Amino acid sequence: MEQLDADILIVGGGLNGPCLALACAQAGMSSVVLDALPAVTRSDVGFDGRAYALALASVRMLRALGIWDEVGEFAQPILEIKASDGRAGEGAGPFFLHFDHAEIEEGPMGHMLEDRYLRRALLAAIEAEPLITHRASARVLSQDTSSLAAVTLEGGEVLRGRLLIGADGRRSGVAERAGIKRTGWGYGQTALVCAVNHELPHNGIAHQFFMPGGPLAILPLPGNQSSIVWSESEPRAGALARASDDDFMTALRPVFGSFLGDISLSGQRFSYPLTLSLAQGFVAE
Ligand SMILES: Cc1cc2nc3c(=O)[nH]c(=O)nc-3n(C[C@H](O)[C@H](O)[C@H](O)COP(=O)(O)OP(=O)(O)OC[C@H]3O[C@@H](n4cnc5c(N)ncnc54)[C@H](O)[C@@H]3O)c2cc1C
Repeated sequence: MEQLDADILIVGGGLNGPCLALACAQAGMSSVVLDALPAVTRSDVGFDGRAYALALASVRMLRALGIWDEVGEFAQPILEIKASDGRAGEGAGPFFLHFDHAEIEEGPMGHMLEDRYLRRALLAAIEAEPLITHRASARVLSQDTSSLAAVTLEGGEVLRGRLLIGADGRRSGVAERAGIKRTGWGYGQTALVCAVNHELPHNGIAHQFFMPGGPLAILPLPGNQSSIVWSESEPRAGALARASDDDFMTALRPVFGSFLGDISLSGQRFSYPLTLSLAQGFVAE
């Protein structure tokens, strides 16, 4: 019988790959987590500017995996959510949908957590777990599932396991090679992502303004800081992405409004085209 490198081969060491590997380890199964990028790139503080709105179920999962103890202190509880109509130049309108954490029994409805903390904690956890082998800078080029599962890395090395998992992101090569088709389309919008400092406290309130060009999300981070996800039509978003930091903030201020006092940019800006990508299946032979 062929020598196996692990029970499970997991392609992708982003968020889902390490979470799955840790859960499998708790059940006594060994895995190899393969990621094309070097670990140092993935744990860099400026990696991609994401901050996650983690729903209660995600927090429960991270707690069960032993990750929450490492990241909880960096997370900002979301105590309220306000969704309102907004008009450029006026900020949020006077009427809004309101969700309050006091209406649910189990703690805050979610937490905001910056990607850099979550990614770093997951990488540290998989490095420390004896049942997990983490291979960074290991790009998977092909796979063979005709007998158990095998992947070939750039450079020619072949790894074998009983099961192959594709946790390699929304353009999953594993899924494509397995014949799993996708449905999807672009929304013609791009999300501009950054963090801002503000003069006044946010009090744990997340805001979503539905503007004519797309929604503006203002999501509380620890301290007087919020994560911004500003969706705009592609041409306008392109111009805003290319604008200088000063010009970008001049455009953002009237959309944001003045309810948190003056705002200033904190750190880098990022932009992500918004697309729907829905896999038609999740399992293949
Ligand atoms: C701005 C922004 C905000 C977001 N906010 C939220 C939020 O609030 N809440 C939420 O739940 N989600 C949010 N998301 C979505 C979330 O980031 C993704 O759903 C999540 O990262 C998917 O995790 P993943 O592990 O499947 O893929 P990824 O995190 O994309 O990781 C995939 C990994 O696979 C590796 N890889 C790819 N191809 C190969 C290959 N051939 N060989 C080896 N490795 C390979 C890549 O290097 C990468 O590290 C947000 C996304 C963005 C961009």
